[in-house]
Amino acid sequence: MNTTDVLTPGDLRVLRTGLEDRQRAVIESMAQGWRELHDLTKSQAQEDGLGSHPADVGTEMEQQQEVAARLQMLDADLQEVKDALDRMDNNTYGVCTDCLGPISIGRLRTLPTASRDIDCQRRYEARQKSRAA
Ligand SMILES: [Zn+2]
Repeated sequence: MNTTDVLTPGDLRVLRTGLEDRQRAVIESMAQGWRELHDLTKSQAQEDGLGSHPADVGTEMEQQQEVAARLQMLDADLQEVKDALDRMDNNTYGVCTDCLGPISIGRLRTLPTASRDIDCQRRYEARQKSRAA
């Protein structure tokens, strides 16, 4: 059991592999989402020509919104993963972006995309909340 707070090359390799797997999975889900969105738009266009029932159009619009919302979440997820991989390339991975202190290995294992240590993350979230209020 490694008790030091320094990321070893082995730790980084494991975390990078996890992030790359996640990146592939997210890109795959996004491609799937875009196909769904494309099919929904297409079927709607066809039905419009045939005088479709308004209720059907409503359901399809809801489905489109749902897929669009999912794509937005996936996009944010992908950005987080990309940022984490960028930090690995720049050797700033595992360094808190706010206080420049080390992010604990335990936290990185749980949340490989973490860009802040737990204290700074709490402060950050508190700031976001007060800004939104
Ligand atoms: Zn910090």
